[in-house]
Amino acid sequence: MSAQLFGNYINGEWVTSGSTFENRNPANTDEVVGLFAKGSAADVAAADEAAHAAYPGWSAMAGPARGNLLYKVADILDRKFDSIAADMTREEGKTLPEAKGEVRRAINIFRYFAGEGSRMPGMIVPSERDRVHMFAIPKSIGVVGLVTPWNFPSAIPAWKMAPALICGNTIIVKPASVSPLSAWRIVEACHEAGFPKGVVNFVAGSGGEIGNALVNAKNLKAISFTGSCEIGNWLHGEASKRRLRIQLEMGGKNPTIVLADADFNAAVENTVNAAFFSTGQKCTATSRVIVEDAIYDKFVAAVVERTKKLKVGDGMKPGADIGPAVDAGQLETNLKYIEIGRKEAGEPLCGGNRLTGTGPNGEDLSKGYFCEPTVFAGVTEDMRIAQEEIFGPVLAIMRAKDFADCMRIANGIPFGLSASVQTQNVSRVFDFVYGMEAGLLTVNLPSAGVEYQLPFGGTKDSSFGPKEQGPAAMEFYSDYKTVYLKY
Ligand code: NAP
Repeated sequence: MSAQLFGNYINGEWVTSGSTFENRNPANTDEVVGLFAKGSAADVAAADEAAHAAYPGWSAMAGPARGNLLYKVADILDRKFDSIAADMTREEGKTLPEAKGEVRRAINIFRYFAGEGSRMPGMIVPSERDRVHMFAIPKSIGVVGLVTPWNFPSAIPAWKMAPALICGNTIIVKPASVSPLSAWRIVEACHEAGFPKGVVNFVAGSGGEIGNALVNAKNLKAISFTGSCEIGNWLHGEASKRRLRIQLEMGGKNPTIVLADADFNAAVENTVNAAFFSTGQKCTATSRVIVEDAIYDKFVAAVVERTKKLKVGDGMKPGADIGPAVDAGQLETNLKYIEIGRKEAGEPLCGGNRLTGTGPNGEDLSKGYFCEPTVFAGVTEDMRIAQEEIFGPVLAIMRAKDFADCMRIANGIPFGLSASVQTQNVSRVFDFVYGMEAGLLTVNLPSAGVEYQLPFGGTKDSSFGPKEQGPAAMEFYSDYKTVYLKY
C-alpha cells in the first residue's frame, strides 16, 4: 500500500504540488508513516499573504466566537484521540501511553484557551485627573510564525496555536520535519472546525528554507520558536533585524538534586522516570543527578538496578517503557556522547550501546534507532556530559558534599530550563525554590511532566521572551491599546 500524501495548508486549501519528503517510523524504518508536501519559500509567501488577508476579519471577531472554534478543534481531536496518538507513536517513537497523554494535553490546551476567549481581561485603573477614565484593552498583533520541534509534536504546536489564535492573530505553522503528522492533525481539525480561510496555515519542509522565508515574510509580526539553541539564536538575530517579536524556548541540562533526607525510593523512581521516559527526549528531562555524599553510593546502586529493568522496544507494543531515538542523527548524538562519557568518567554502570537484537515483544530492534538507557557515575562538573545537552537516555550522576554544594553544581551551567529537588526538609525546599536558576521547578516529583495552566519556560540560555502556556501565554500574542477618556 502506498503511503498517504499530506499537503500543506494555505488559504484554506490543501496544497500538494512540488516535491515530497518521507516521514518514517523510528521504531521500524521500513514503515513510511506518510509523505509530506515539501514546502518552499513561495509557499511561505502565499501563506503570509493569506494570513495577512484573513487578519482583519479574524481579529475583529468576538473572543467567545473565536473560542467556539477552538472548542470545536478540541472536540474533533477528542473524537480521533486513539488514531492521533497512534500516529504520534509511529512518527516520533514515544510509547503509546505517553502519546495518549500528550494528545490529551493538546486537547486540554485548546479547551483552556477557548475559555480565555470569553475573558481577555484588560486593565482599568483610577486616573489622577478628575473625570478621566483610563483603561487598556488587549489587542492582537497580526501574522505570527510558529516553529516547532519534534519531541512534543502535538502539545507544542497546540500550546502555540491556541493562544495565538484566541488572541486574534493569524498563523503559519512550521512543524519539525521528522514528526510533522501530529501538527498536521491539529491543522486538519482546524479545517474541519470551519476556521475562515487564511487564519491557519501550515507549511512543512526544510527548516533552513522555510525558516529563512518565514523570518523574512513581508507581513510577519512575530515568531515563536521551540528547538535547539543553535537555530533559536540564529532566528533571534534575523528577527531582531526586522524588529519582530520573538519568543524562544530552547535547550536544557536539567538537574535533579537528591538530599540525604529524601524519600529514597521515590527519589530513585522520580530520577529514572525523568531521565529515561520518552527516551530522555523531553526538554525538561533530567540529565544530571546531584546526590548528597551521605547516600551517594546507595543511590547510584539503586538507580542502576532500576534502570536495568526498563524495557526498550517499539512503543506501539504493550510493555515497552522506552521507545527509540527519533532519528539516525539523534541516535548518533547519543552514541557520540556515550563515547565522550567513557573517556571522561569511565565505563557506564549500565547501558552504553545501540540495541539491535530482539525487543520485549519479539520486534527486530535493528530496524529502529534503539539505545540502551545509560548511567554514568563519578561525573564531575567540568565534563562535557555534565555541561552539554544530549537529549537522549544518558544520565550523569554527580557527588556533592552538602546542599550548598548541590546548588552550586546545579546552577553551574549556562542553561536554566527545569530542575528538581528530592527532600523532606521544608527549609531546603524554599532555599531551592528561591536559589535555583531555572524557570520550571519540581519538588519530590520528576523534573519533567508539566501541565498547561501555569507559565512554562526557562531562564538563562534556555529561553528568551515571555513565557508560554497558562495566562502568561497571552502576553506574547497580544499587545495593549491604552485609552485616556475625559467625560
Ligand atoms: P531544531 O533542530 O532546532 O528544530 C526545531 C524547529 O526549527 C524544526 O521545525 C526545524 O525544522 C526548524 N528549523 C531548522 N532550521 C531552521 C532555521 N534556519 N530557521 C527556522 N527554523 C528552523 O530542534 P529539534 O531537534 O527539533 O528539537 C530538539 C531541541 O528542542 C532540543 O534542544 C530541546 O531542548 C529543544 N526543546 C526545547 C523545549 C523548551 O520548551 N525549552 C521544548 C522541546 C524541545 P526541521 O525539522 O525541518 O529541521
